[in-house]
Amino acid sequence: MHPFDDEIQSELDALRAAGLHRELRPVESPQGPHILLGGKPSLNFSSNDYLGLAQHPALREAVVRSATEWGAGAGASRLVCGSLLPHHNLEEELAAFKGTQAALTFSTGYAAAVGTVTALVGKNDVVIVDKLVHASCVDGARLSGAKLRVFRHNDLVELETRLKWADAQRTAQRARRILVITESVFSMDGDLAPLRNIVELKERFGAWLMVDEAHATGLYGAGRKGLVEEFQLADRVEVQFGTLGKALGAAGGYVVGSRPLVALLVNRARSFVFSTAPVPAQCAAARAALALVKSDEGEILRQRCWANVDSTKTTIVDAGWRLRPAQSPILPLIIGDEKRAVECSRTLREQGVFVPAIRYPTVARGEARLRLTVTASHSPEDIQALGRVLASIPSAFSPT
Ligand code: PMP
Repeated sequence: MHPFDDEIQSELDALRAAGLHRELRPVESPQGPHILLGGKPSLNFSSNDYLGLAQHPALREAVVRSATEWGAGAGASRLVCGSLLPHHNLEEELAAFKGTQAALTFSTGYAAAVGTVTALVGKNDVVIVDKLVHASCVDGARLSGAKLRVFRHNDLVELETRLKWADAQRTAQRARRILVITESVFSMDGDLAPLRNIVELKERFGAWLMVDEAHATGLYGAGRKGLVEEFQLADRVEVQFGTLGKALGAAGGYVVGSRPLVALLVNRARSFVFSTAPVPAQCAAARAALALVKSDEGEILRQRCWANVDSTKTTIVDAGWRLRPAQSPILPLIIGDEKRAVECSRTLREQGVFVPAIRYPTVARGEARLRLTVTASHSPEDIQALGRVLASIPSAFSPT
């Protein structure tokens, strides 16, 4: 073997030995609660398509219509000649939906986070993140060169300590800006951030707050805008961002906030400036999703999702599994050991249920889990089938 491949292979072998090796699994059917995986029909409890919009006829039609009218690709970056009407229309509607002055869309939520953090802070600044924020925010913070400080998950006392330290840095003129980043609904634990307390703290210290609503948009708040709306904090959060690829069933990332924020991102967010504009059809899908989420149907789908979450929680516990208190459609079954989590996921898959094992580096070492997600598209029969399979598997997988 070529020495290059030799070296790479030994790294892969080490990953395998640690139970951390990952492989792509082709899904041979469209996204939904029933998928074909390795030629085998599987019940899917792993998708973030919480409202089932990825297959909704309105989104499908919007994609087809947009592709017919606008073609396949945008042809260039937004700042060259790729800033097409579908991007602008989507941004106007996103800002109106979220009740902010302006919005900017990116190819992905990951790009939105990295571009935004690096545009807002640099080496003379401090970024303070919850331990469990998404990799996109951590990567943005690292790339920015800012002093990065982490507080224990949802620990307000430690956040205050970090803010005091950052404030002292600022007083000593060793730091200029302080940016706090949290998720509103945490992607791998499914719990919620104490957003109101975080807002109060960041205001006390004159810091900025960036909230990742990736898993909240479409599910929380009277207008289904997210947790920032539910806690009535929209005018106290400097930067809200998220993805169009989860409850909105499409693809892409967004940032919403003030006009100056968006204008700065257009100038400074490198993942925006130096990247081909998103495919127009994905904007059309996201617009159709926003219209649905705002409509009565959006409320019906949200209620269906929450009803499914409630019955799935009961089903899991009745099947003899331990479940942490959960306030979202993300229901983690903590296993601990990486290899056991993989083995458990495989056993479920053999019985026709797909729930992925989530391991380091997505979660901390020794915190491997099955990340089970529930959507509006699951039927009562799907949930009963999940219960039967979970009950048939040794609850030894689920440590006490
Ligand atoms: N933030 C969180 C919390 C996420 O879970 C994700 C997606 N895994 C992202 C950001 C990135 O969004 P996207 O998938 O659109 O890149």
